[in-house]
This record gives sequence, C-alpha cells and structure tokens, in this order.
Amino acid sequence: METQSDEGGPTGFVFYKPLLLLLVLMACAKTTRRNDINNITQPQPSTAKTGEKTPPPTRKKKKKKIYLTFDDGPNKGTRKVLDIVQQEQVPVTFFLIGEHAFASTSQRATWDSLRIEESIELCNHSHTHAWHNRYNKFYEQPDSVVNDFKRCQDSLGLSNTISRTPGRNIWRVDTLRYTDLSKSAAAADSLQQAGFTIIGWDLEWHYDHKNFTLKNGADALLGQIDSLFAANKTRVPEHLVLLAHDQVYDDANDSAELHQLIKKLKARDEYELLVTSKFPGAKPRKEGSATAD
Ligand SMILES: [Zn+2]
Repeated sequence: METQSDEGGPTGFVFYKPLLLLLVLMACAKTTRRNDINNITQPQPSTAKTGEKTPPPTRKKKKKKIYLTFDDGPNKGTRKVLDIVQQEQVPVTFFLIGEHAFASTSQRATWDSLRIEESIELCNHSHTHAWHNRYNKFYEQPDSVVNDFKRCQDSLGLSNTISRTPGRNIWRVDTLRYTDLSKSAAAADSLQQAGFTIIGWDLEWHYDHKNFTLKNGADALLGQIDSLFAANKTRVPEHLVLLAHDQVYDDANDSAELHQLIKKLKARDEYELLVTSKFPGAKPRKEGSATAD
C-alpha cells in the first residue's frame, strides 16, 4: 500500500526519493572503502610476510656450565667419588696420576672401574705428580715435563689429550693462555706444543692438607659458585671449572657433602654439568705427538 502511495504521491516526495537513494549508496561505498583499508592495514602474521616460523613466546634460557673435576686418583677416595657419580649419573672428569693406577691392587681395581664408566672422562695429571710434588724443579725442565705427561698418556692409554698440571693453575686452551707462576710458563708452552690441552680451575673446594677434610660444606661451596657466576669472575664467562681432590671424599662426612653438592647442582635449572672436553676451545684430540694411538 505504501509503495503505491509513493508512486502516486506528491511531486516533492518523488523529487527527494532519488536523493535519498544516492545518500544510501554513498554511505555503502564509504563503508566498503573503510573495510578495504582495514584489510590492508591490519597487521599480518610474520609467517605470511617472511615464511619464517614465529619464535616461541618464551625462549629457554642458556644454562651456565659447570665442570666438576677430581684430581690425583686413583686413590683411597676415588671409589667413593665414583659411587656417587654412578648413583647420580652425572658427567665429571678425573685427572689421574699415571703411577697411581698401578700402585696397589685396590688402585688397579679402581682404575678398572673408572675405565668402564661411560658418564665420566679420564684425563692426564702427569705420571709422577711433578716428581712427587717437587714442583719448582719439575717445571724448570720443560722436556722432562712433556715426557712425564706422555708417560701417563701411554701407560693409561688415555683417549684424549686434556691435561692438568700438578700444583699449578695453568690454562692452554685454544686462545686462552694463563699461567699462575710465570716460571712454569715454558713447560706449559712445551706441553701445548706437544699436543696437550691444559685445563686449570676457577674454584677449588679447599681441604685441610693435614687430615684431608673439607674446609667448607656443600652449601658454602654452592654459594661460592653462585657468586663467581654473578660477578662474572670465571676465566671464560658462563663456564666454571671446579677443582676437587678424590682423597678428601674417603671421609664419610665429606663424601656426604659431595653427594649433597651434586644433588643440589642437579636441582638447579640454571646449571648444567659437563666433562672438560666440552669446555670452549678444548681440543680433546689435537694433532701432535701426545696421543697414544
Ligand atoms: Zn694434583
């Protein structure tokens, strides 16, 4: 009814009708344009632009690396350390003295046990431990030092050339060169030239040299580890080498402290335990005459 009345209505109304239609059409066109603009300017997912995958919302933080190293075995404490390492299944490194491996029946048996454990790494700590701790005389003769390390390498049949100098905190790792006492530098350079990589330490778990007992417990040591990392005082940032001595852990209280330390380190998400061949720049098999095979 209304349509009919429109067609047959007054002239004024007929005049306004196309105008109204035009306004409606213009409004529609405007809306369409706005939608087009919106389509263009809407942010596109990065995959659509680059074809690359969008990174995950939370990235995993890189872990700080800790290298637990035990010197002077095989000796009375080595078996205790090995038991804990096997229980906790952690990678650690033993720096062995060549002549200790064959010094007694029990040391020979410990050496046999070390050789078959896969989570550990066995490295060179010289054959005679600097001619039985005569450090100054020992390091005065670079050729003798090299021969002593080669003798250990050959007698133990070690599969890598990573070494630690007895009584000296020396580093010869790729570009990292550090010698605590300069009189030992020539001997250390000779070792490196002969193909040995030398790893020192950032932190020592100190013990009383009279009775071979620890000076501080696991919690105190963990605090020291945290502090060194926090102050960025390790030789290579984010990497810490801890020096410990097997013999200390023959004592039940001290081996319990070691066990606690390892458990606590495992529980800390920001830390990862590794063997020393994983240390940056360490070349476990360098070209040279050091390897036995
Ligand atoms: Zn030593």
